[in-house]
Amino acid sequence: MTQNRQWVITANPQGLVKESDFEWRQTPVPSPGENQVLVRNIYLSLDPANRVWMNGAETYMPALHLNQVMWGGTLGVVEESRHSGFQPGDLVQGRGGWQDYALSDGSDLSKLPAQRQVPLTAFFGLFGHIGLTAYFGLLDIGKPKPGDTLVVSAAAGAVGSLTGQIGKIKDCRVVGLAGSEEKCRWITEELGFDAAINYKTESVRDALQHHCPKGIDIYFDNVGGRILEIALGLINVHARIPVCGAISQYNATAPVPGPANLSVLITKRARMEGFVVVDYLHRSREAIPDLSKWYAEGRLRYRVDVVKGLENTPSAINKLFDGSNQGKLIVQISGEP
Ligand code: NDP
Repeated sequence: MTQNRQWVITANPQGLVKESDFEWRQTPVPSPGENQVLVRNIYLSLDPANRVWMNGAETYMPALHLNQVMWGGTLGVVEESRHSGFQPGDLVQGRGGWQDYALSDGSDLSKLPAQRQVPLTAFFGLFGHIGLTAYFGLLDIGKPKPGDTLVVSAAAGAVGSLTGQIGKIKDCRVVGLAGSEEKCRWITEELGFDAAINYKTESVRDALQHHCPKGIDIYFDNVGGRILEIALGLINVHARIPVCGAISQYNATAPVPGPANLSVLITKRARMEGFVVVDYLHRSREAIPDLSKWYAEGRLRYRVDVVKGLENTPSAINKLFDGSNQGKLIVQISGEP
């Protein structure tokens, strides 16, 4: 390939992402300068946080400005290297963005093992930021104890499905909320959740009361909004609420009201704590042995949803918001070596 195809963000989306919020550009494939490598992107991770970055405000990341290649985590292969630490053919994880090729000085790249027991895409999921989010969010902030009742929202998604399974490994009663019958079946029949609630068709309050007869000790919040408020109404004394995400609000076009019952945190002496996985990356060596062991024992399962073609990226990201993704959402940009 001689052209580098790129999606450049040209407008801050209002509501769901539209293709017209981006420009499709083709520029010559760049050549690496001294101490640089040229990486061919193979897979692109699509994450709900990408939508938050698109608003152009500073978050845990600096502000994403218009007219630059849209940011995104990537798995790729080094094609050319003028950097002593990388050879052509090295598989690397980095932040290559929504494009075919990216130049890097190596500081954002980590090498992936040449010999692997798992598919490459697992380095976005179970053995990547998704696995670390579930692991540290639940264990460090949720602090599960045997017999606790753990409720997980977006429970059939990438983070939620692992969180619930780790909760089972820690001997919790695990109740998941998901948006379809198929997802509810998958988490109970295949992943071992104790109960599932289809939040689109059931009364969430009634169903949570039914499935959590001893109240909620941990609510792992992936969605915010109405479900958070209902869960808060059912928490026990000393409950923990890891605030992982607020996906119900990421496309909001007007300010979203907060839960009306936050004062329950006082009466229940409960702890609600936000976290971002980047703060845990330096502790990945603690998590990976556990995740590997549980995976080898068949106690952790995951799904990946691979959309083919860089050109489909802007429409693909909306799968996260209409719930049509089946597991970790990934775009395949080019073939594996
Ligand atoms: P998922 O694979 O879980 O996909 C998103 C899912 O969210 C959809 O499949 C959909 O499932 C559900 N969803 C979408 N809109 C709503 C809504 N309005 N109400 C309830 N559920 C909704 O994505 P991830 O696992 O990548 O991310 C899950 C959450 O974790 C997000 O909030 C994300 O921002 C957060 N996250 C946080 C990190 C951190 O460091 N704090 C790191 C990674 C992710 P359904 O069909 O069930 O509706």
